[in-house]
Amino acid sequence: TDRVISSDVTSYDEPFEETLRPDTLGSYIGQGQIKENLSIFIQAAQLREESLDHVLLYGPPGLGKTTLAAVIANEMGVQIRMTSGPAIERPGDLAAIVSALEPGDVLFIDEIHRLNRAIEEVLYPAMEDFCLDIVVGKGPSAKSIRLDLPPFTLIGATTRAGSLSAPLRDRFGVLARLEYYDEDALTSIVTRSSRLFQAAIDLRAASEIARRSRGTPRIANRLLKRVRDYAQVRGDGIITEALANEALELLQVDKRGLDHIDHKLIHAMAERFRGGPVGLDTLAASIGEEPATIEEVYEPYLLQIGFIQRTPRGRVLTPLAYSHLGLPVPE
Ligand code: ATP
Repeated sequence: TDRVISSDVTSYDEPFEETLRPDTLGSYIGQGQIKENLSIFIQAAQLREESLDHVLLYGPPGLGKTTLAAVIANEMGVQIRMTSGPAIERPGDLAAIVSALEPGDVLFIDEIHRLNRAIEEVLYPAMEDFCLDIVVGKGPSAKSIRLDLPPFTLIGATTRAGSLSAPLRDRFGVLARLEYYDEDALTSIVTRSSRLFQAAIDLRAASEIARRSRGTPRIANRLLKRVRDYAQVRGDGIITEALANEALELLQVDKRGLDHIDHKLIHAMAERFRGGPVGLDTLAASIGEEPATIEEVYEPYLLQIGFIQRTPRGRVLTPLAYSHLGLPVPE
């Protein structure tokens, strides 16, 4: 959906969720390399009194791309306007958004790989020369008029950088790939969120939640909320390691953070396809999920932890996955 918001945290749609969002590079946990680079680019742009170069953020969902975009706008001291690839249907939609920007503003386009070609064509001169070429009228009387825009920063986010057209990708001056968070970073995120929730948490409980969060802050925060509910109802509100373990058991999140869909996928590969290789579409059909969902949401983490490998002939289950399931590795 099309959301137009400012970098002021109080004006977000979901007030509760938004209190968890860090608003400065200093409070944004992890992604050290990206933060260090961005802080240099931001300071340099400010010294030159220019807008920041266009930034493409890519990586699996829930790693904090939207959060980082808002942090960048806040650090630059400008407003952020948020929209998404599918929300911009006609060139006029884009024209309306960019012509309302103030100098230096950030335009955030989520799922930027889903922009259609006609929109991309309008975006190129907007990114390069800060102008729009709009065709008005129809037939022989149609003419193109050029509209000057204030300088702005486009921040695009995508889970699939590979699906971006080359000309669009080439127009970003900064490309940043967000990585899965390590256990320490996620533990800090869980501890920080608990503090904001005013919920007392044991450090070991925080690391247990971190370990089961698939390297993903969004999942860490979601698990924390459910564990906090559990601790409130079954305990005295303090999140201990024992309560965290019980709650996570109940949520069917295993020791590596895999949920029932991951299990379904791994079991299907082991039992129906003898560990593979199996094609993405065949696998997706066998468990009733969309191929794109498997490819973008489930598979990246399984690849990351070495449970699945991609080969030219399809996906293969690794011995690591078999031993996690407690199944014998086939010959
Ligand atoms: P995507 O990468 O798919 O855009 P996202 O950016 O929408 O994901 P967010 O919603 O920004 O993911 O992040 C989920 C939650 O995780 C946020 O509410 C935020 O509180 C928290 N979060 C994300 N990244 C960080 C971080 N680096 N440090 C602290 N909290 C974070």
